Amino acid sequence: MQILQTPIEYLKGVGPAKADLLKKELRIFTYRDLLNLFPFRYVDRSRFYKINEISSTETEVQIIGKITKLEEVGAARTKRLTAHFVDETGSVELVWFKGVKWLKNSLKLNQPYVLFAKPSMFNNRYNFAHPDIELLEEFKASPLQGLQPVYPSTEKLNGRNINARTLAKLTQTLLPQLKGALPEIYPPEFLKENGLAPREASYFEVHFPKNVERLEKARYRLKFDEFFMLQLDMIRQKKIHQIKQRGFAFSALGENFNNFYNNELPFELTGAQKKVLKEIRKDIMHGLHMNRLVQGDVGSGKTIVALMCMLMAIDNGFQACLMAPTEILATQHYNGLKELVENLPVEIALLTGSTKAAARRELHAKLEDGSLNILIGTHALIEDKVKYKNLGMAVIDEQHRFGVAQRAQLWKKNTLPPHILIMTATPIPRTLAMSVYGNLDISVIDELPPGRKPITTVHRYDSNRLKVFGFMKDEIAKGRQVYVVYPLIEESKQMDYKDLQDGYESIVRAFPKSDYQVSIVHGKMKAADKEWEMQRFAKGETQIMVATTVIEVGVNVPNASVMVIESAERFGLSQLHQLRGRVGRGAEQSFCILMTSHKLSSDAKTRIKTMVRTNDGFEISEVDMKLRGPGDLMGTRQSGILNLNIADLMKDGAILEQARNAAITLLEKDPQLRQPEHYGILQHFNSQVKRKMQWGRIS
Ligand code: ADP
Ligand code: MG
Repeated sequence: MQILQTPIEYLKGVGPAKADLLKKELRIFTYRDLLNLFPFRYVDRSRFYKINEISSTETEVQIIGKITKLEEVGAARTKRLTAHFVDETGSVELVWFKGVKWLKNSLKLNQPYVLFAKPSMFNNRYNFAHPDIELLEEFKASPLQGLQPVYPSTEKLNGRNINARTLAKLTQTLLPQLKGALPEIYPPEFLKENGLAPREASYFEVHFPKNVERLEKARYRLKFDEFFMLQLDMIRQKKIHQIKQRGFAFSALGENFNNFYNNELPFELTGAQKKVLKEIRKDIMHGLHMNRLVQGDVGSGKTIVALMCMLMAIDNGFQACLMAPTEILATQHYNGLKELVENLPVEIALLTGSTKAAARRELHAKLEDGSLNILIGTHALIEDKVKYKNLGMAVIDEQHRFGVAQRAQLWKKNTLPPHILIMTATPIPRTLAMSVYGNLDISVIDELPPGRKPITTVHRYDSNRLKVFGFMKDEIAKGRQVYVVYPLIEESKQMDYKDLQDGYESIVRAFPKSDYQVSIVHGKMKAADKEWEMQRFAKGETQIMVATTVIEVGVNVPNASVMVIESAERFGLSQLHQLRGRVGRGAEQSFCILMTSHKLSSDAKTRIKTMVRTNDGFEISEVDMKLRGPGDLMGTRQSGILNLNIADLMKDGAILEQARNAAITLLEKDPQLRQPEHYGILQHFNSQVKRKMQWGRIS
């Protein structure tokens, strides 16, 4: 164990200056750090090409040949050195722009060389600029052959000539010294069950693989280790949470719930809704604290589930609240839920930033004396002035707009924390959910209410706008309504407003007042005005809603069947999916039209194509994650647990799942890791956790 802690300057070939750079640039302080600097790719130097086999400029090639002619061409700034490089099948040109003099003197004519570089195409011929070139004799003598590691480096390191090859040589010096320092941590049968290569061999092979097959095995093993330790940690934390955190016991399904279920429910619940309700009920019956995330694609019917959970709280003598990210959404929830509980003895109220002082005072009083059962609102719900008599259930809708700190605010309101139900339509890929929310329970509503037709999505260029207007008119003639949404990346950007205003005007021109009513809603309007326009649209008094992304989340107008998204290339995938989710809520065929200019980046093309191809939120979020990386989603960047060296959440989902299952099985067999054959795992786990904590203290 000890040798891994050795400071990096003790390694042969690392002087104080180099050590300093390694620390600053790559955070390599010890032997262990260097060992865990994994290659991010490998170059295959086992294969040799003939010149006439070069067929693309995509990959590096390695060729044995001779330089038959060296020539300095150009003058001053354009001066370069060119070489004629031949083998028995043909010839290519090599060129250098730097170090011309030195190279001209040191390169030898008519001696066998090994050339390694990526070709480029110049004047219809393959050409190599600044190639890697080494005398065949030296190449054979050097220990680095076959698949060679390429390590991450930085410009600064490169400037000091510490390149991938230098790092490879250092690692090669290091590895033999670590023989015996990387003992196996799993028992033999565990290795066999999970198809894992031995630990030490995997470390060696990942740096210097004998062949591709062994490299894959090594990488698999090391990725498995990272995921496995992560999952042990997650499961353990979850256990601690379950043991320690008491919550209110809602033991009975009471009058309100039953009454609602039997008499008021406007439709049959889907199987998925029932399943999720059962899962929630199981959580809250026994006096443990619930912390559950309900994922359900847009339109899957999360609201009714939330209401029924709030009724469970009320039936057990508690209050409930529902928090939404925007006033529009809070108001809409309030209107919808108020109607649903109309016939029940349930007091429900709305609190937002624009609630007037007098109403607010009355509301506060009712909240404190307990006569108010359900409070719906925005952030205003968690202000210090708001005091509940006994808050038992807090529902948070579309939580990606709420910070962790805000959620914690809720906990201050009580002796015991209220049960927390987070509802989100932002589909989190399974792999990510498993690692990020390992300590949160997850329910999935994976079924849409019956009778929904998949939304038809098409891509249209701006030049086709008139046709799109024609289509909108046809749909409106059938009695439907249309959203037209403009991107508003930052609510303050003047230019975005200009786009919105211009768009609104062109629509008003194309849809004259005599025949059409057009609403407009954006973030700069007063809440009351927004609400008034939303209501007009919801009641069907206006046919077209021109809006910014304020309507992105949760808005529910089932009769709206066309969603036109302007400048769709400027939206992210999850946002596009959210917006599209505003239609397809009724029984009619719905449409989503993505308008873009002709100029599209390749990422934008991928996003548009994905939207056109699928309605599946989970598939979309997988693509989104590939495009953006996982760090952005759900603020996981701050969570600090995505501290993976070799495993990749985006690509290694299958390994993660296997590691998770292995961790669950292991802890079922031996919850405390007390059995002697698990000592290695325990020890490794403890050392990992300890290191993570130290790291946390530093940063
Ligand atoms: P979301 O999950 O996006 O929040 P909502 O809760 O707003 O979805 O529900 C979308 C629409 O589907 C609403 O009009 C709601 O009344 C309706 N709905 C919900 N559950 C069902 C069901 N089981 N059967 C039929 N319609 C339903
Ligand atoms: Mg919703």
